Amino acid sequence: MFDKILIANRGEIALRVIRAAREMGIATVAVHSTADSDAMHVRMADESVCIGPPPSPQSYLSVPAIISACEITGAQAIHPGYGFLSENAEFVQIVEDHGITFIGPTAEHIRVMGDKITAKDTMKALGVPCVPGSDGGVPTLAEAKRIGEEFGYPVIIKATAGGGGRGMKVAMNADEMESAFMTARAEGKAAFGNDEVYIEKYLTTPRHIEIQVFGDGKGKAVHLGERDCSLQRRHQKVFEEAPGPCITPEERAKIGKVCADAVAKINYIGAGTIEFLYENGEFYFIEMNTRLQVEHPVTEGIFGVDLVREQIRVAAGEPMSFGQDDLEINGHAIEVRINAEKLPNFSPCPGKITAYHAPGGLGVRMDSALYDGYSIPPYYDSLIAKLIVQGRDRAEALARLERALGELIVDGIDTTVPLFHALLQEPDLHSGDYNIHWLERWLAENMAD
Ligand code: ADP
Repeated sequence: MFDKILIANRGEIALRVIRAAREMGIATVAVHSTADSDAMHVRMADESVCIGPPPSPQSYLSVPAIISACEITGAQAIHPGYGFLSENAEFVQIVEDHGITFIGPTAEHIRVMGDKITAKDTMKALGVPCVPGSDGGVPTLAEAKRIGEEFGYPVIIKATAGGGGRGMKVAMNADEMESAFMTARAEGKAAFGNDEVYIEKYLTTPRHIEIQVFGDGKGKAVHLGERDCSLQRRHQKVFEEAPGPCITPEERAKIGKVCADAVAKINYIGAGTIEFLYENGEFYFIEMNTRLQVEHPVTEGIFGVDLVREQIRVAAGEPMSFGQDDLEINGHAIEVRINAEKLPNFSPCPGKITAYHAPGGLGVRMDSALYDGYSIPPYYDSLIAKLIVQGRDRAEALARLERALGELIVDGIDTTVPLFHALLQEPDLHSGDYNIHWLERWLAENMAD
């Protein structure tokens, strides 16, 4: 096992990794920008290294700075968290070339899954059901229009290098194709340096269901059921739960096995998430994320496992501590993402926290790097806390969520907490009757400025 690991991230996810490492008796190194000298992850780690100025390209994304920090401190492995360098195959290669272990999948797996066309081809070949669409990239508008006719509108044009909800445009009919095609290409080029796009049938009422998988890199893999992340704003998740309210045990076992078998076949190592759209009882693969997800705590809650500990174990060459038969669902867990944003526009709202009190009690987990007097810097993601609650069933988890939100105090800035208070008044939220478009519609009706 490692003696010391470096966490190439900040905020709540850096704390999350530090916590797992500490329980395993592993020393931790935090890295930080000059804007984060007072951040909680720096305080909680055993050692810290300043790696650059506030903008992330010069700090959290600076590969030389991170490798140097590793060498100076003698850290043997790097945990990337999510975001930043976590899905950067080149970074993984450089880390390995320096004799440092990357706590995550191989550069090759990250490369394959990072390109959505290759990912889809790979998954199709592994027997995973996919959204019907173009066979690979679509180079011209004429070809795009032909595919639109073939599959029937609406269709979605997606940048193969896309992520974070960017580089995706829907064409409802042939007239909209030109603008959607051009915009998706331009966004792909601008945001990811790659203008290749592909086309999928646009599903009109799907839920977002994702399967958590975990592999040992030696041909063994398990699934840890699904998470339902259908409540989204601009293709970004805001409320996640496990198990999915509409998935039966039979469906779970079936799609779970397809996913576990697929990643076992490619000797996948570590945590991964296979994302699907789910409509009329069918699963359609959309992408695989080769890292720990923001919403992993709901899975940890219902299965009682520590996914970060497991990631560290397999990276160190140890066997997985559970097999498929050890994994049993217990209760229901929900996570809400609390952002430093001002409603109704969700505009970023960094600033100084003048009072902070985290909720507690039975079934409540608060993953956050906030503290009283902390100043949220304006340079990074606006996620400031993940509130995770668990109950014996969904109704109890929802009641607990309302209770815990009521206990939370974050003064000095605006947050998205009022959104969740309002959502909890909605019958649809309690019945679980919604699809990926529900929240956008609700926001338009209830939060228009
Ligand atoms: P990203 O990598 O940017 O997150 P994804 O491919 O995972 O992109 O898609 C993100 C979201 O976009 C999905 O959760 C869903 O809401 C929507 N989406 C993607 N593909 C389709 C599709 N074929 N039909 C309908 N909605 C889609």
